[in-house]
Amino acid sequence: PHISTLGVHESVDEVFPAAVFRDALADAGPSVEIVDSDDDLTALDALVTFEYEEYFLDAGLDWIHSIQAGVDRFPFDALQERGIALTNSTGIHGDVVGETAVGLMLSFARRLHAHRSNQERGEWVKPAWDDAFPLRRESACVVGLGTLGRGIATRASALGMDVTGVKRTPTPVDGVDEVYPPEDLHDAIADARFVALAVPLTDDTEKMMSTPEFEAMRDDAYVINVARGPVVDQSALVDALDASEISGAGLDVFETEPLPADSTLWDRDEVILTPHAAGFNEEYYERVATIVRENLRRQREGESLTNRVV
Ligand code: NAD
Repeated sequence: PHISTLGVHESVDEVFPAAVFRDALADAGPSVEIVDSDDDLTALDALVTFEYEEYFLDAGLDWIHSIQAGVDRFPFDALQERGIALTNSTGIHGDVVGETAVGLMLSFARRLHAHRSNQERGEWVKPAWDDAFPLRRESACVVGLGTLGRGIATRASALGMDVTGVKRTPTPVDGVDEVYPPEDLHDAIADARFVALAVPLTDDTEKMMSTPEFEAMRDDAYVINVARGPVVDQSALVDALDASEISGAGLDVFETEPLPADSTLWDRDEVILTPHAAGFNEEYYERVATIVRENLRRQREGESLTNRVV
């Protein structure tokens, strides 16, 4: 179908200004307008959005593009029934999320988070002699080796770490010394100092990290979650931290976001929390615009869409 009107849902403001994104698509072909939740969408052919809202389903749209890579909040069956194509923004977050994930590893190893906390208290405190460790020769297991996972693996490898990974079809991946299938998750994580999660949230990955997995991990290990909150059983994680089954966690995503103020995760020395911002960067809007532009071209030329999920 020909896309002559493209809406930009105001919810993209969560990640970049809707107007900046609209301007980036000004010469892409269709007329581009910013819409909010009170607007009638029936004049639109396609919509770019951060949030999913139920009324998108009955607006007669041909295509919805998610500015996030994760699309677990969208109802795939209902979209399929109505013939609405859904595309996501995977492929653009490997470098930035890789930097964030490896940045969390660096912080734990080099105690940067502890120094910053001491600075806020105006305290000059050196770490205990055996708190800090070199990342070189430490091991990282990256669970999920798509865009994010590869971004994490290559950066961890560049810092001299031994990198293993988990992948549904355990074929070799650059920068990853050994690749395990999901059935061997416990073997894959057993020796790792860092377990970094980079899978989408699906029925198979929900609570994939729970009590048995934390028990399988080293007690000096850290879990890094830049995927989706529910991939980790959060109460099992809290219990594992309390029981010193693992040493700490670097978390960008949570079961409930924003993380509730009464969560016990806020107040732990060996937990670093980031507000679902691992992918934030000033180029985010351009990168999404590149995917949308490419798909507008494909629509025009009758080719199948890239990044298509439904
Ligand atoms: P991707 O599709 O490129 O990679 C996901 C990989 O996980 C694929 O290779 C897939 O085969 C694999 N996978 C799926 N189920 C698996 C399982 N059970 N075991 C092992 N591997 C499995 O997607 P991506 O761009 O790398 O993003 C991955 C997820 O990370 C997204 O779905 C999203 O939820 C999340 N994400 C978070 C942020 C953030 O800001 N924190 C940014 C981008 C993406």
